[in-house]
Amino acid sequence: MTDSKTKVRLGVSTCLLGQNVRFDGGHKEDHYLTETLAPFVEWIAACPEVDIGLGTPRESIRLIGTTNAPRLFAPKSGVDLTDKMQSYARAKVEQLQQMDLDGYILKKDSPSCGMERVRIYHESGSATRTGVGLFARVLMEGMPELPVEEEGRLHDPSLRANFIVRVFAHRRWRELIANDFSLAALVTFHAQHKFLLMAHSEKHLRLMGKLVAGAKARKPKEVVAEYSKLFFAALREPARTRAHTNVLQHLAGFCKKQLESKDKIELQNVITDFRKGLVPLIVPITLIKHYINKFDLQYLRDQIYLNPHPKELMLLNHV
Ligand code: SF4
Repeated sequence: MTDSKTKVRLGVSTCLLGQNVRFDGGHKEDHYLTETLAPFVEWIAACPEVDIGLGTPRESIRLIGTTNAPRLFAPKSGVDLTDKMQSYARAKVEQLQQMDLDGYILKKDSPSCGMERVRIYHESGSATRTGVGLFARVLMEGMPELPVEEEGRLHDPSLRANFIVRVFAHRRWRELIANDFSLAALVTFHAQHKFLLMAHSEKHLRLMGKLVAGAKARKPKEVVAEYSKLFFAALREPARTRAHTNVLQHLAGFCKKQLESKDKIELQNVITDFRKGLVPLIVPITLIKHYINKFDLQYLRDQIYLNPHPKELMLLNHV
């Protein structure tokens, strides 16, 4: 179960926390991060441009050249910062790999921090939004399973919910492999995540089921590596309304025997309302949780799907 008292540890572009580290001497505070998310997060902030010794304020810099191998360039002074930024990024990511991060939030559009669609200026004078910030690229390549998002995309309720699901899943996974890992613990972990995984990707759920079933015959290290890859790939797939409806029907099926027919009809009506976009996911989930408690359905009580992140974040409340 998600323990809302234990904080997740997230890397973040420093300017998003309201610190004046930008080229113009200002910041880009994001209030969702500093107000809503902050109580649940321990921030590990980094400003790559300040860290490589550029002052604040400073000359603005940009990506130039080709999409695959752009240079980081300061056009006014003509200084090429590519090598400096890349060696900083490699050293920083090595450090971050040892810091038990559960995710990273990057500043969009930045030639250093931007995760995607960063402007690249070409020789012709035109610009395309096909770049990745130099630091962001090294980070994502060096920590491929780490949930990474940009603050701009987090304003979209479904992208935000998906990112937070992945962050808390990352913490649970990290805790599982940090404690004495055993096959029995993996079996329990997999069982508890069954419906969450089903909502994101049935294909991955099937592959992971096979992997867990055959794990005894394999080296634990291999199983952990493969499971982890599949787990985070599954959660990267967005959980759509149709998949949620399918999961809700499965959960309703577990309560079927105990429910009177009027309660069965009520539950079906609530699931239908969710499918039609008339009520948010929290409504059927709350009703199902009520029945789980009432009938003491232990197997369902432990399902992460029902409590994937702290309820105070209200991520299940959007239609
Ligand atoms: S986007 Fe990155 S490099 Fe630019 S000010 Fe923010 S933290 Fe620093």
